[in-house]
Amino acid sequence: MLQAEIKSLLKEDISILIKIPNSGKHYLCDCGEASLLTVKEVQSISAIFISHTHIDHFSNFDGIFRHQIGSGEKVVICGPKNIHQQVEARLKSYTWNLIDENAIAYEIREIVSKDEINIYTLRPPHWNLELINTQNFLFEDEYVNVDFTILDHKIDSIAYLFKEKDTVSFNETGSGFKKGKWISELKTAFENNNGDKEIEIEGTVYKAADLFHLLTRNKGYKLGVIMDHAVDKSNYEKIKAVFGAADLVYIETFYKDSDQEFAGINHHSFASASGNIMNECEVKEAIPIHFSRRYTESDQEEIETAFYKAFRKN
Ligand SMILES: [Zn+2]
Ligand SMILES: [Zn+2]
Repeated sequence: MLQAEIKSLLKEDISILIKIPNSGKHYLCDCGEASLLTVKEVQSISAIFISHTHIDHFSNFDGIFRHQIGSGEKVVICGPKNIHQQVEARLKSYTWNLIDENAIAYEIREIVSKDEINIYTLRPPHWNLELINTQNFLFEDEYVNVDFTILDHKIDSIAYLFKEKDTVSFNETGSGFKKGKWISELKTAFENNNGDKEIEIEGTVYKAADLFHLLTRNKGYKLGVIMDHAVDKSNYEKIKAVFGAADLVYIETFYKDSDQEFAGINHHSFASASGNIMNECEVKEAIPIHFSRRYTESDQEEIETAFYKAFRKN
């Protein structure tokens, strides 16, 4: 199951680390100040997902690449229009004469629209952008697929949904057979919908379809991160289309209900609005994040109370 940890303290900007259990692989959502993020965690980040580049979401990007350069790995950075130029500008603002070209490779994925993603590479020491191609999906690796929607925050603000891949498990009790390599053959046949595949167990050949009852498909966990967005109908239609029935969603809730006029002015959300949309999405669990830095702990409690009242309708 995917796990998320908020790495920022109250009065810090926002950064959320997503961990894939037993893989040593992490993803990072936004680069706000993050006192709780360790160097070891930064070095395990294989992809960074930026919602938008207001300074509170991007200021700690330098702190991130500071600890990544030298790893020799490829790191993917996904973000809104012009993210490639903004990453390039940040990297070019330092001197890199002691760094060789294999120290790291950044691959930038610029989200132009739902089905137009431009892929660029950036390599040290000169950090010159190279457009590689354009594709119609954002991100997939061996563990997750990442879906997204482009919200309005007076600029594009990308909300991401991490979808863990479904897994297939073997029901050991009741099978009556000895374990063996046939189990992985059966799982492969199941995943490929190949019921005619012949599976040999202890000298006898079976049709895969006759053994499929020994397997169970486990739905992958769905974890969402919705950063800054205005309270408006078209944002909510987009949120519902992507995040409906997710397992857990973190959602920007910058203001208390009593400050909701500022939410309107600054294209942000407020406590009961964020709780309501999470209720409408029928997500299993939701967590409000990214509170105004002038708020105290008691303001945060007020936000959480109003948020959960709207979310749980009780
Ligand atoms: Zn913003
Ligand atoms: Zn923000």
